[in-house]
Amino acid sequence: MQLLELKAIYLYRSSASAALDAEALRAYLAELLPAVATHLRGSYETIVARGLCPAPDSAMLAAAVIQGIAPPPDAVRLAGVEPVVYDAFALSAAMAEALRPAEAGLDCLHIDLSHRLIATWDESDSRCHLRTLLCSQPSIVSIPGLVEAPARPRKYAIMRLQFEALRMPDAIAELDEKFAGSFLTHGDDRLTEVAKGYIMQAVFYRLTGEAFCEDPSCRLHDAHWQEDMLAAQLGDRYCERHAAVLEACRPGKA
Ligand SMILES: [Zn+2]
Repeated sequence: MQLLELKAIYLYRSSASAALDAEALRAYLAELLPAVATHLRGSYETIVARGLCPAPDSAMLAAAVIQGIAPPPDAVRLAGVEPVVYDAFALSAAMAEALRPAEAGLDCLHIDLSHRLIATWDESDSRCHLRTLLCSQPSIVSIPGLVEAPARPRKYAIMRLQFEALRMPDAIAELDEKFAGSFLTHGDDRLTEVAKGYIMQAVFYRLTGEAFCEDPSCRLHDAHWQEDMLAAQLGDRYCERHAAVLEACRPGKA
């Protein structure tokens, strides 16, 4: 497999989630990709404010908000999460305006650990869907999206809707307890471990043109259900084919 050369990866700690250990994510990248320089920066906005990047076009940012889509209520209650959903491609394009030319080439990859909710349009059912990840330059891993985008267990989702409609907070609390651990919550201590696989999906997309893997136990698996996402990420493995790509990236193997 022909791999694109990657010299540097820049992570941006835009999410203020206390459960997210961004330095652990940088260290993970450095361990798997020792030939690539890995950098952790503050939030995208901080970098812009310090004059290290030009400001993204505010009109482009505002235009990236999708009108008429209500964000999930649990996400909106979080500090630092805007109560809107962004078009993932338009948001990335607005942020790309702010990349320094010397760091904007294909040998550099920027990944925003975003506090924003992102969505893309799905032709197959003519709807917008929340996403965990957009592979682009910059790539966006939506930290609240890891909680909100993959579906929760069907039984839980149906019962929760019913209890909400009937305004039964005690029943909701009981339900949450019964299903505890089967899906990510905001502030979940598994958030960092799960995010590792998503930053690697962005890295693989850059290296090989392919982000996702059909093997449900590989970290690159594009899970649509919370339980599948947790199984793929907490298992902490790459399938044989993708482990071979990582091996080929080690110094002296290229
Ligand atoms: Zn794989």
